[in-house]
Amino acid sequence: MKRVYLDYAATSPVKDEVLKEMLPYFSDVFGNPSSVYSYARESKKAIDKARDIVATTINAKAKEIYFTGSGSEADNWAIKGVASALKNKGKHIITSKIEHHAVLHTCEYLEREGFEVTYLDVDENGFIDLVDLENSIREDTILISIMYANNEIGTILPIKQIVEIAKRKSVLVHTDAVQVYGNILIDVIDLGVDLLSLSAHKIYGPKGVGALYIKRGTKINSLIYGGAQEMKKRAGTENIAGIIGFAKAAELAIENIEEHATKLKKLRDKLIEEITKTIPHIRLNGDPIKRLPGNVNICFKYIEGEALLLSLDLVGIAASSGSACTSGSLDPSHVLMAIGLTHEIAHGSLRLSIGDFNSEEDIDYVLEKLPEIVQRLRDMSPLYEEVIGGN
Ligand SMILES: *Cc1c(COP(=O)(O)O)cnc(C)c1O
Repeated sequence: MKRVYLDYAATSPVKDEVLKEMLPYFSDVFGNPSSVYSYARESKKAIDKARDIVATTINAKAKEIYFTGSGSEADNWAIKGVASALKNKGKHIITSKIEHHAVLHTCEYLEREGFEVTYLDVDENGFIDLVDLENSIREDTILISIMYANNEIGTILPIKQIVEIAKRKSVLVHTDAVQVYGNILIDVIDLGVDLLSLSAHKIYGPKGVGALYIKRGTKINSLIYGGAQEMKKRAGTENIAGIIGFAKAAELAIENIEEHATKLKKLRDKLIEEITKTIPHIRLNGDPIKRLPGNVNICFKYIEGEALLLSLDLVGIAASSGSACTSGSLDPSHVLMAIGLTHEIAHGSLRLSIGDFNSEEDIDYVLEKLPEIVQRLRDMSPLYEEVIGGN
């Protein structure tokens, strides 16, 4: 049976070139970089080189890149680390209602620890109101954490403008750029952000490795204490193979970024156009223009996203309903709620996220299968029957 993977926003396979770079670091080059002998120097050199490469991909300096165990850890560290370092200055943080759970749940934790958090509303496409943001900044605001692009609906937020507003009031800005990396060129100098989170496994690198960009001079406390690794800011013997794989994946992603984005956009737009043409009673979620090149998120009225996922799986298509983190729970996605959808409509959501290994045939296969699946599910839906009857 044909298998089509369309869940690249959840994770991506490690590219062959990346795996090849990683392999020696499991066995041949295994020295602990913190030791003094030549084995160690080889490992240390490799990590230094990887740090240089990752830094270059976002126009940062090597000393501003700190490797972490995931994108989630980078988000946790940025927010908890700044909160802890600046708690005597203030205890107010601003974020949005559509952030990844790595940000939202960290903010909720800090609320339990005595911090105050403003969760900004978003409009129907997922944009925060910049006037609302400006008005939310207080004397005691220490950090603004707004994602660069949303992992569910694909909307790209105006981080540069957000930074401009924050800087007028001298507030630090963190952005979760995990979904943007490899899709849109990131330039931390141009953006002006103080902290930025990355993850390797969304850009065809290995799972379990990420990075936090910390602009030089930014006050931040550590999350993980122990040895002197990561310039004394993040303890733990380095995941050398992971870090090497991350750097290779980053290098490849940036090398081919234009080509990659153009290809994804073409497939994305074909999916959106054809689904809109062939299937009635749908809603495209997220901004139609300011949208990640590989993101399609559509609500199919009168059916359940879970049923849709299972039916798609039966014909070999892997997709997601909302977000990988929320499937498995019956609550509709917090992002779809935040853009103002009703529970009923939100429950019928489908996210197809396109990646490097997809071809036009994959898209055609989805366009062949999806309409009949949606129709079959609707035919079994009492809600749909009412609508048809009403007509
Ligand atoms: C995947 C993702 C994360 C988490 O990264 P991990 O490396 O899987 O922990 C954080 N934020 C966004 C927007 C993501 O898409």
